[in-house]
Amino acid sequence: MKCDPPLSPPPSLAVKPRLIRHLFLPPLVILLMIALGYVTYLYSEKNGIKALSENGERQLELHARTVESEINKYNYLPSVLELESNVSDLLNDPSPELRSKVNDYLEGLNRRSRSRAIYVLDTTGRVLATSNWRDADSYLGEDLSFRAYYQDAIRGLPGRFYGIGSTTGEPGYYLAHGLEEKGRIIGVAVIKVRLEALEERWQRARLEAFVSDENGIIILSSDPARRLKSVRPLTADIKERLARSLQYYWWPLNELMPLERESIADGVEKLTFPANSSVDHEHTVVSYLAQTCDLADTPWHLTLLTPLEDLRREAANQGMLVAVACALAMFLLIAWNERRKVISTRLAAREALEEANNELERRITERTADLRASNERLKGQIRERRQAEETLRQAQDELVQAGKLAAIGQMSTSIAHELNQPLAALRTLSGNTVRFLERGALETASTNLRTINDLVDRMGRITASLRSFARRGEDKGQASLAKAVDAALQLLAGRLEKSALDLHQQFDDVELAIDQTRLEQILVNLIGNALDAMQAQPLPMLWLEGEVFEGRYRLRVRDNGHGIDAETRKHLFEPFFTTKPGEQGLGLGLTLSASLAAAAGGSLNAEDPAEGGTMFVLVLPLVATGISSP
Ligand code: ADP
Repeated sequence: MKCDPPLSPPPSLAVKPRLIRHLFLPPLVILLMIALGYVTYLYSEKNGIKALSENGERQLELHARTVESEINKYNYLPSVLELESNVSDLLNDPSPELRSKVNDYLEGLNRRSRSRAIYVLDTTGRVLATSNWRDADSYLGEDLSFRAYYQDAIRGLPGRFYGIGSTTGEPGYYLAHGLEEKGRIIGVAVIKVRLEALEERWQRARLEAFVSDENGIIILSSDPARRLKSVRPLTADIKERLARSLQYYWWPLNELMPLERESIADGVEKLTFPANSSVDHEHTVVSYLAQTCDLADTPWHLTLLTPLEDLRREAANQGMLVAVACALAMFLLIAWNERRKVISTRLAAREALEEANNELERRITERTADLRASNERLKGQIRERRQAEETLRQAQDELVQAGKLAAIGQMSTSIAHELNQPLAALRTLSGNTVRFLERGALETASTNLRTINDLVDRMGRITASLRSFARRGEDKGQASLAKAVDAALQLLAGRLEKSALDLHQQFDDVELAIDQTRLEQILVNLIGNALDAMQAQPLPMLWLEGEVFEGRYRLRVRDNGHGIDAETRKHLFEPFFTTKPGEQGLGLGLTLSASLAAAAGGSLNAEDPAEGGTMFVLVLPLVATGISSP
């Protein structure tokens, strides 16, 4: 049967893509996870910053208003001094009594307004009276004409100024107002306030914010470390100018330098500062969203700092979540893909199996049809064979019958001799008996009659043998070997006597599976042939020997005749082959005998014995009840 072609491709080709997939898939998945996580992080951070800046804008607005109200609540105070006559009198005519009165007045006013100090300057910028006149570092008599707030106020402008006091070294917000009398400025009233309350409030609210002044210097800050730092780059010129103005006293002005600065929108920046290691042990840098707005009525700006750490942590969490979700999705996708492949492989295998099955069924159907056809042919042949066998059998039967008749023909001389002798004897005896009866010799007549009786019996036996020989026999039957040998010897008795044969018999009285007559016929043929072959032999000898051999019985018929030459051996069992001269041989004996033996399931063969002569070996099946061994 032809082998089906393999269903799957060769393993070397199938393994390669899978190997590549296994090698490249994990790094690809990891890369994808990282990329997605990072994109999510950025997106989340951006969104967070947007939300923070919206919220921060409102906060900024709120706190800007608070800062504005805090710094503006003292605006009116310097101008109140215009209403106090003692102050204008003192400015017009300074006297110790008036100074003392105004000092007391200012002291009381300062206490009530909770400002840091209130003082009055004359037109030259010298302090005429002050609320802190009792203190050792009182401003009294000090020349503050260099102060910008004085210079603004003396010109009739509102003096607003944040600076560090040159006497006390204390920072403060200065508000100055030119005191007018009859349209002429006669002096300047100054109030110094501290704005630390704002810083404290921011700190309490954990708000990070600072206020930078017109120079970009941080004047108020929730984080003291940022105070008096510049939010803008400071050139050497600016530094020089600021130092000379003494606005910040001799304070070293440094820049507030962020590590990173990124502008997001107008007034919105992302700033990264080094972390304050004493407060924050966790981070080395801190990022803020810085939102700045102008403060009304001042050149100042309020900056609100919103830490981005929480937002970044949340963005990182979201990024991680998305990366994990991506990994999970990839894992599910790979698992689904693998399962799909397994299913499709199974389906393909099932389809291939079904196809192979169908192919097999188709072939079986074809083969069955072939077999049926050849079976039909065989049946036909068997029928023909049977018919031929039947014909052959009939022919064989005919041959057997013909052989028998031929044998009878051959034997007719000896039969005639056999029958003529007793007949002649009977005639003589019967004539003698009549005469003995006439003479009254009853005794002798009686003896003669008994002899006549024996002769008639002998003749009857001869004819009975002939009848049984000529009768058609059956393939199957049961024969006694001893009886068959006796019958054959009796049939050939005349020739046996003539030849003075020395007969050796050594076989078992077994029951053989062959018709009795047929066995007798075979034996008559074999013994008759042996007698023919031994005609020239002065001491003819015949051996009939037998034994059980391989479950069957083997009878050897051996003579010491002239034997069989090679040419004769070739044609021995051919019908009508004979070496006998004239009418003596028909050439049917061995053919018939062999076919009778074969029909009974046995065989007949000729052998050349070492001692000379010829040996025929007749093998016949035993009847089941026959003896098993001699
Ligand atoms: P027929 O006896 O009529 O010749 P057979 O078929 O019986 O026919 O024998 C064929 C031939 O086989 C004989 O003519 C003879 O030559 C040979 N043959 C048979 N038996 C013997 C034997 N015992 N010894 C020698 N030759 C034999």
